[in-house]
Formats: sequence, C-alpha cells, structure tokens
Amino acid sequence: METKNEHIRVLIVGSGPAGYTAGIYAARANLKPVLYEGLQPGGQLTTTTEIENFPGYPTGTSGTSLMDDLRQQAERLGVEIRAGLVTSCELSADKRTVTIDGTTTIATDALIIATGAQAKYLGLPSEERFKGYGVSACATCDGFFYRGKTVAVVGGGDTAGEEATYLASICKKVYLIIRKPYMRASKAMLDRVNATPNIEILYEHVTQEILGNDEGVTGARLLNTATNTTHDIAIDGFFLAIGHKPNTEPFKGQLEIDGEGYITTQPGTPFTSVPGVFAAGDVQDHRYRQAITAAASGCMAALEAERYLGTRKF
Ligand code: NDP
Repeated sequence: METKNEHIRVLIVGSGPAGYTAGIYAARANLKPVLYEGLQPGGQLTTTTEIENFPGYPTGTSGTSLMDDLRQQAERLGVEIRAGLVTSCELSADKRTVTIDGTTTIATDALIIATGAQAKYLGLPSEERFKGYGVSACATCDGFFYRGKTVAVVGGGDTAGEEATYLASICKKVYLIIRKPYMRASKAMLDRVNATPNIEILYEHVTQEILGNDEGVTGARLLNTATNTTHDIAIDGFFLAIGHKPNTEPFKGQLEIDGEGYITTQPGTPFTSVPGVFAAGDVQDHRYRQAITAAASGCMAALEAERYLGTRKF
C-alpha cells in the first residue's frame, strides 16, 4: 500500500459542531487548517431531525442543514475538508503525527481532536428503522416535539433519570424502562424520579421491539424478565439513555483518557495532557453534550492552538 507523508500546521479531526467551529476560527487566524471528516461526516447531529435550540435559527433547522451550513461556512473561510479517518497517532510534546486511513501520515504543529461520541443503541432493527422518526438518544434535542405525548426512556443511570425527568416536564407520561430490579443512578436522581408523578418505572423490563408505522413510533413490545411475559405499551417517542461511547480508540496510550474513555482536559479549557494537542466537543464532555457547547469548545481549542503556535517556532 502506498503511503504519503505530509506536514500540516493545524490538523482538526472530526466534523461535528466542535470540528467545524475550530476550523472556522483557525482559518480566520490564517492557520490554513485541514479537517478530516471521520466516519460520520457532520457527526451525531445528522441523526436527529429538527433542531430548535441552536441560536440563530428563529424558525429552527434540521440536523443535516445545520451541519451543511457549518461545513459551507468552514469551506468558504478556507478550511480544507477531506474525507478520512484517524487510524493511529503518536503524540508527544515534541512530535505529533497522525495517520489517516492507515496510509497518510501527517506531522502537525497543532492537533485539535473533535471526534465526538456515539450514543449507544440497543441494536434492534426496528430501532434503526425509526431513528430520527420517534427514536432518539437525546431528550434535550428532541423532547420538545413530544409535548403532551407519551414517551419511553431506556436506561437506569443518571442520564436516564435526567432525561426522564426532563421529558416528564413536557410530556403527558414517561415510561422508564430499566433492565435490572433497581436503578443504578445516584440516590438524589432516584428520589427525583420517584417524586415525579407522571414517570412510571418498569423494572426488570427489556425492549424486544419498537412498533410503528410510516408516520413513526406508536409503541414498544416489552419483556418482563421477572415473569417472562410480554406486553405492548403505546408511546409516541422512544429515548435511549444507555450511555455514550467517546470516539477515542486511536488516541489510547497517547493522551490521558479517563475511566469512561473520554479525553481528559484541564477543567474549562481544551488542554489535553500533551502540549499542542487540544480536545473539543463530546470527545471530552460527558456532561453537556450539546451542539452549542461543542461549538464553543471548538472555538476555544482553535484560539488555544493559535496561542500555542504563536509562542513556538516550528
Ligand atoms: P451509565 O453507564 O451510568 O448507565 C447506563 C444505564 O443503561 C445502566 O442503567 C445500564 O443498565 C443501562 N443499559 C446499558 N446497556 C443497556 C441495554 N443494552 N439495555 C438496557 N439497558 C442498558 O451511563 P449514564 O449515561 O447514565 O451516565 C454516565 C456517567 O455520567 C455516570 O457516571 C453518571 O453518573 C454521569 N452523569 C451524571 C449526571 C448528573 O450528575 N446529573 C447526569 C448524567 C450522567 P445496568 O445498570 O443494568 O448496567
């Protein structure tokens, strides 16, 4: 296989709001950034439908339009956008090299990692069918569209508790589907869930199928593992809250990564454990996970990359 070597001043990996925003800022600072899109060009937002909470869109927009707009804006300002996936890297204070698709090795003066995270799904074919049409992994993004309706949330952790209570404030009823006979979330979260009258917890239940038609989700078929019986619930939306997996595989062993797989950054900054390497967006954030917070951290990463390059001779 033919290999290629290249030198780039600012390399950005990832094409969600964090990556594109980092690109926009780096391009305007004349740093000639190159951005590799990764496995899912446009990132997680391309799997949602309507976006109403991104500032600047008075009538809302769609996930794909928002990402198209960001891409166009980045391109217009001079970001070179390329298809490709980081497969490995070597990162130290003196040397940063990133290999793309196993074939192109890039030496970069500054690296911005914005590879995001993926929500975990159950893996049911019906879940795939209704993704974006009633199946969602983000209550803050999509909950609003289920005002006054009945939804289900799957998961027993703090995220599930948070999403269920958030949805309960908008929806008529929320089923919380938990596979164990108890909820793993913190005591405070459990108390909050229990104190919310329109949440019904279904312990020891697993989802066998999501039911629906051409218009979207209409229900779910659940197995009660304690009694080994199945029954259907009528719902309009099905929310996954069974955890996220940050896309940090190629960076393992090169940077400090926490126990859940997220890149460790100095609080409130994009600084990683390696000078000249910055992280932005969901790859380093398991708390907020919003397009706007990811975009903001992309901006911070580009500003810090600019400062870093300004203080060094390459
Ligand atoms: P967790 O890993 O804590 O919880 C995941 C939940 O999903 C568990 O209940 C797990 O079940 C369940 N689950 C996993 N796979 C499946 C499956 N295939 N089918 C059904 N259920 C499944 O993830 P969270 O996202 O909830 O939290 C991540 C971290 O972030 C935690 O440390 C949490 O405390 C923190 N957090 C804190 C918040 C806060 O303080 N306000 C808010 C949100 C998150 P099981 O228990 O059986 O393994």
